[in-house]
Amino acid sequence: MSEVVVVPCSGIGKVTGLIARETVLRVTGKTAPEIAETACLAHLVTGDDEAKAKVSGRACITVDGCTALCAAKSVEAVGGGVQAKFQVLDEMRKHRGKNAGDGTALTSDGWQIVDEFAAQIAQRANELYKEANNG
Ligand code: SF4
Repeated sequence: MSEVVVVPCSGIGKVTGLIARETVLRVTGKTAPEIAETACLAHLVTGDDEAKAKVSGRACITVDGCTALCAAKSVEAVGGGVQAKFQVLDEMRKHRGKNAGDGTALTSDGWQIVDEFAAQIAQRANELYKEANNG
């Protein structure tokens, strides 16, 4: 059975990057650990063979902090099949007025955003997992 690879960007210093990373950890560690795993974006960017093999030809989901789409572009550049591209900025638009925290710590509102975002991503990962393993 081939797990779906969910890769966050490496945004540092802003809450969007922290939400991207925490959301992926929530998906792979709690919401859908049996069907999703992650890969280190820095290893992919630096050409690590093991990291590249992990995403090459596999169904991947990327979670980027902003429109720069660093994770999506990097996974695609090493042959990962990016089937879904999520952006934290899109998710945060649904929570206008909320204080999610900053680049180092999330507030309770920030964790609520992580929970809701993770649920959406886990649902997409489930669909892709079924397609990859049963279809
Ligand atoms: S997608 Fe945006 S937040 Fe994430 S690493 Fe790139 S520039 Fe930073």
